[in-house]
Order: sequence, then C-alpha cells, then structure tokens
Amino acid sequence: STGLLCHCRAGFEPDLAAELTDRAAEAGEAGYARAQRDSGFVEFLGDGDALSKALPFDALVFARQKLVLLAELRGLDPKDRITPLLAAITDAGGTRHGELIVEHPDSDAGKPLSGLARSFGNALRPALRKQGLLTATDNPRLPRLHVCFVAGDHAFVARSQPGDSAPWPLGIPRLRVHADAPSRSALKLEEALLTLVDDTTRERQLQDGKTAADLGAAPGGWTWVLARHGLRVTAIDNGPLRPHVLEHGLVEHLRADGFRWQPQRPLDWMVCDMVEQPARVAVRMGEWFREGWCRQAIFNLKLPMKKRWQETRHCLDLFRDSAGLPLDLRARQLYHDREEITVFAVPPRRR
Ligand code: SAM
Repeated sequence: STGLLCHCRAGFEPDLAAELTDRAAEAGEAGYARAQRDSGFVEFLGDGDALSKALPFDALVFARQKLVLLAELRGLDPKDRITPLLAAITDAGGTRHGELIVEHPDSDAGKPLSGLARSFGNALRPALRKQGLLTATDNPRLPRLHVCFVAGDHAFVARSQPGDSAPWPLGIPRLRVHADAPSRSALKLEEALLTLVDDTTRERQLQDGKTAADLGAAPGGWTWVLARHGLRVTAIDNGPLRPHVLEHGLVEHLRADGFRWQPQRPLDWMVCDMVEQPARVAVRMGEWFREGWCRQAIFNLKLPMKKRWQETRHCLDLFRDSAGLPLDLRARQLYHDREEITVFAVPPRRR
C-alpha cells in the first residue's frame, strides 16, 4: 500500500502533518506528509501497513480518522466511476470487508460531495457484494472499505481496521445537544467520555456517589453532564452558572481561582476547561495528580498559537513532569474541539 490517509479538522493539516512526521521518525519509519491547508485531510506516504502499526490511532492527537491507503484515482469519468473503482479495489487484494463507507473530507470543498457519496455508495455496494468483497450485512469485526471523494473526478480507496480507527465516518460521532444543556461545551465532555475514556472507567467511575471538581465551570455545561451521571460536583468559576444546573442538589458553586483551589479530600474526577495558557494549565493539572487530589482527569488545552503540534508535545511533557508519576494519557482534538485539544489522564490500571 502507499501510505495513510488521515482526516482532521479543516485548518489543522499542518499540525497533523507535523505530528505524523515526528511520530513516524521516532518509530524509525520513513514517511512524508502531503497536505493542503483547509482540505480536512493529510496523506502520509510510505509503507502503509508499517506506518499504521507505528502510529496507532489511539495515540494520535490531530487525526480524527486513520485509514491505510490502497489507491488514488484521478480523472474519473462521471459517466462511469464504478468500473475503475471496482478494479482498484479488486487489485488491492481479495479482502472481504464488513462495511463500505463512501465519504468526503469535512471541508468547504468536501461538503458539496455528500450527494455523490451517498448515491455512489448505493451503486457500489451491490457490485462489491457480487464479487465477494463486502459482506451481505455489516460486520463490525471485519476491516472497513473507504472510498473518499475529494472531487467529483478524484477519489481515494482506503481501508480501516476496527479497533485501530474511529468507528464513525470521518471520525465524527453524532451527538445532539440536549435541550437542557447550559452550553454547547457540554458536547465536548460527552464526546471525551465516549471516545477517550475506556469502558471500565466509564462504567465504574461515572455513577452515583462519585465526586468531581470542575475548574472553569461557567456557564455549567461540563458540570451538568457530570451531575446527570449522579456525580457530586464542586464547580469553580468566578462567573455564574445557569440556575437549573444547581437544581440537582448535586452541585456546589464556588467563586474561586481554579489555579489555587484544592479539594479537602481526594476526588474521583477533576475536569478543567479554563481558558488560559496551555502550559500553565498543564502544570497545574500535573500538580493535582502529584498531590493525589483526583483519581482521573479530563482537561482541555487551548491552542490559539501557530505551531500547535509542538505546543501539544511541550504541554504533555510539562504535565507528565509535573505529575511525577506514571499516567496513561489519551489526547485528541475532538470533533467538538475548536482551537484546542482534550486530554484524559488516569494512572495505569493494575493487572
Ligand atoms: N466547560 C464550561 C461549560 O461547559 O459550560 C465552559 C467553560 S468556559 C470555556 C471557560 C471558563 O473558564 C470561563 O467561565 C472562565 O470564567 C473560567 N476561568 C478562566 N480562568 C479561570 C480561573 N483562573 N479560575 C476559575 N475559572 C476560570
């Protein structure tokens, strides 16, 4: 194969390209990035299977999705796109796929291709089934086949492995804003809980009786999400919370500085969405772990600067140093994150 195809937030291609380049070099794999600003994706050319192994999806920050490239087709004839695509898929080996996803980048240029993607998928599916390249009904255990249109006459063919890719097309989970949510920010925490937190932690740690602090809580979206799970939340912010957040009786609002406040006894969770310099936030988050004030944490690092990958690395290093104990970290720019990333940190589970 010819490399990787990774989707990202439009405008963050240079950051994803820098991340892939650094990480591949560290793993001793050769590869080079090809990226166009605002395209919503990065091609990382090299040995696709080796690169995919060296760059596990869970460890990537700026990739919403990771695919292994099988072929690129240019100059497709709008009268018959099926024949050349079917040929390219057949050439890539007789793998049987559990699902076909026809997609387009999440970008201004990509969005008008959604009608084409839908109708093309409907036409290609029966043709693939006839050739034994696609199961009759979706099978989530088998590799997924992706056709990604970047223009009406230009498409990539790629493959993703369940467990080493996002389960949603383009890596975008469909979450709806709850009518009661105090802010759209609530979706960030919901997406983080869904995509960064492992099942065991989610089941055991997000339930009645657990405790949390929310640093930079106003107007209350994250606090509201935690209280809906039954957690007792101390919400720290000089700004006001929406009144209905307090109605649960589970939330206490303190007007205090989130960089100074500390709990009187250890909490299960600390979450933090303070708008502040990311390095300052990272160091403070580390202090929480060093002092044993929380068991696990979810925090955002705002990245308004240019070299966001370098800043990300730097801040994650600061966080680790400041914590001074081993932690499992998962950091990602979530779909609901704008110029920021979200980090989940927890001590390694004892085996
Ligand atoms: N997560 C919130 C929600 O879901 O509604 C939104 C948080 S908003 C993006 C950032 C908040 O951080 C602001 O309300 C601001 O007052 C607060 N903040 C910034 N610096 C702070 C500090 N030093 N201490 C406490 N809060 C702070």
